[in-house]
Amino acid sequence: MPRNTVARIDTSALRHNYRLACRLASPARAMAVIKADGYGHGIAEVARALEGEAPKFAVACIEEALAIREAGIRHPVVLLQGMHSSDDVAICAREGFEVVLHSDYQLDWLMHATQVPAFWLKVNTGMNRLGFAPAMLADAMARLKEYMVMQNLVGFVTHFACADDVASNFTDDQTGVFTEAVADWPLLAKSASNSAAHFLPGQPMFDWSRPGIMLYGASPMLEKTGPELGLEPAMSLEAPLIAVRLLKPGQSVGYGCSWTAERETRMGIVAIGYGDGYPRHAGSGTPAWVAGSRIRLIGRVSMDMLAVDLTDAPAACPGDTVELWGRHVSVDEVARHAGTIAYELLTGVTARVPRFYDSPGDRAG
Ligand SMILES: *Cc1c(COP(=O)(O)O)cnc(C)c1O
Repeated sequence: MPRNTVARIDTSALRHNYRLACRLASPARAMAVIKADGYGHGIAEVARALEGEAPKFAVACIEEALAIREAGIRHPVVLLQGMHSSDDVAICAREGFEVVLHSDYQLDWLMHATQVPAFWLKVNTGMNRLGFAPAMLADAMARLKEYMVMQNLVGFVTHFACADDVASNFTDDQTGVFTEAVADWPLLAKSASNSAAHFLPGQPMFDWSRPGIMLYGASPMLEKTGPELGLEPAMSLEAPLIAVRLLKPGQSVGYGCSWTAERETRMGIVAIGYGDGYPRHAGSGTPAWVAGSRIRLIGRVSMDMLAVDLTDAPAACPGDTVELWGRHVSVDEVARHAGTIAYELLTGVTARVPRFYDSPGDRAG
């Protein structure tokens, strides 16, 4: 029997969340962002789950786009970082990949190409990672005309830095800069919104939005969990309870003896740890779920196991399934306890953890 430490993926939750993104983006359309192995959910399976819904996918790099082709899906795929090498230009053209170009050297590659892919221009409106400054855009457009590749230009992309924070004015500022920067080309497509921008009241959505994290049911917003935003968690991270023991007052558990029982404590050991991608920074008090009850981590997370306090789950016994995050415990809550964001937890589940799709399994609780 294999160790029953698994990530169960509910593909109907992916579709539910994608439809919510579409409603919030409407009349703009939504390209489904499935980079980083579908945020840890498995890029081929996520693409298959959304292929009937999403007209386009978006990924970071060409390897990910090719993985979508290997899954047998012919949809347009947007490469959010464009090409990383001139050799990729022809592959992108052949495969129907749309590249988002952010730098002059990428424009130069188009000049020498015999086959030119569809492409977008990235506009830097304040994130200051990638993109052409608004003042340089006319220049870049002039070069594209000179290279005679204008007809392959789909439109303009920008990316928000602070859309997760409803109290910030920065998204409005960036939206204003973007609108003005691209005003001379009204017929070209525009794309700005990440997941968070879908939840900002009054936010213009332009022609294409780019939801990522919300598709997986985790929250893009600082103060809310995914379920609080109407999202359904797509991943349930589960592991078996493999030992139960009583700790006497004064006894501790785990490396560094960082947690000590103040009273007699029924304690359980769960077969999952940071070697599986469960965050080591999740301290005592981080929630989990077993046998219908919410429980708490105690002590340090090890590579292959962690300890929980079973005082509030008296029925729990070895063999039971513990949900580390999923429907009962939001990944957003675990992320908060670990001092990180759900993005990092979902993309960090390691290859040791098999993904199962749409299998009810031995659901925790
Ligand atoms: C990853 C990414 C997105 C999706 O962001 P979420 O916060 O996951 O919705 C959108 N646009 C770009 C350029 C990205 O890199």
